[in-house]
Amino acid sequence: MNAPHRLALDGTALRANWQALARVSGAACGAAVKADGYGLGAHAVVVRLLAAGCRDFFVSSWNEARALADIDLASAGATLSVLHGVRDEDMAAARELTARPVLNTPAQVKRWRDAGGRPCDVMVDTGMNRLGIAAADIAAGLLDGLAIDTLMSHLACADEASAMNERQRDHFAALSGRTCAKRMSLANSAGITLGADYHFDLTRPGLALYGGLPVAALGEAIRPVVRIEAEVLQRRTVAMGESVGYNATWIAPAETEVAIVNLGYADGYWRGFSDTGTAFAADVALPVIGRVSMDLVALDVSRADVAEGDWIAFDPDLPRAAVASGMSQYELITGLGHRFDRIWRD
Ligand SMILES: *Cc1c(COP(=O)(O)O)cnc(C)c1O
Repeated sequence: MNAPHRLALDGTALRANWQALARVSGAACGAAVKADGYGLGAHAVVVRLLAAGCRDFFVSSWNEARALADIDLASAGATLSVLHGVRDEDMAAARELTARPVLNTPAQVKRWRDAGGRPCDVMVDTGMNRLGIAAADIAAGLLDGLAIDTLMSHLACADEASAMNERQRDHFAALSGRTCAKRMSLANSAGITLGADYHFDLTRPGLALYGGLPVAALGEAIRPVVRIEAEVLQRRTVAMGESVGYNATWIAPAETEVAIVNLGYADGYWRGFSDTGTAFAADVALPVIGRVSMDLVALDVSRADVAEGDWIAFDPDLPRAAVASGMSQYELITGLGHRFDRIWRD
């Protein structure tokens, strides 16, 4: 049975976004597919990006790596890296799977060395003070003899004009030749727009692949990939002065045609869209009215011909939806729930 709500996913746009980012990168271009491919479904995303030419994939945990284990990355010369490295309880999975850990701490380095030291990646902290080993530890020989594929670092402020970007880039560039890493990688989606001296050997976009725009500069090149669609469960006429929804926050200024739609905050259509979200019937904008409920949302359909059982498309423009909801584009897509049917076109 089909769910009463679905994600319409555009594989052509996903591939085109990756190709556009790869072109701007000038270097190899990977893909962050953590958080289940930012909510779209990591398996489907990896299959499509592999076909488009992507060879470097990144997840957070070994559970996420295991969920992709049936995709034959090796024969395409592609690899998967696990950004959070290895804990003791990950070692069985790390031995069994072909993915590489991204080592973040001296304890992780020791754990991997003691286990035989297969190829790995290493995260170095260049000022974000989130994950990564210190440059001083590298200078002191912590990584000597490790089989490092990619040395990486992560930018804290890539989506804004901040002096920190140059500082981090310079710290990172100074590590060139100081380890036996085959490649260096710094830029996420926003970092790609900072210029060629941020690209190094490999870029690691996530958000922009999925249609997010961390910076306006990417706007021309990036297309939406995911659109929420949901079915009208009931249509009603609300008289002037009556209210709609929880806490009666919306009062009809005039007689209003209202559609109650099968979508709510349990699906990741957050309460922040109350009175601010937008759906569309053909080209007519249908404003969300009143509070978003757990499983339902009300739309003003006075200007459109909408009936019970019709499917309604919600605004797929992530920057606009972020402004409307007061949430980040990252939260909006990674929060897309498990109840949706995920329907890929291409
Ligand atoms: C998530 C992540 C990325 C991708 O970042 P976007 O901002 O989504 O492009 C790149 N590198 C690391 C280490 C990450 O954790």
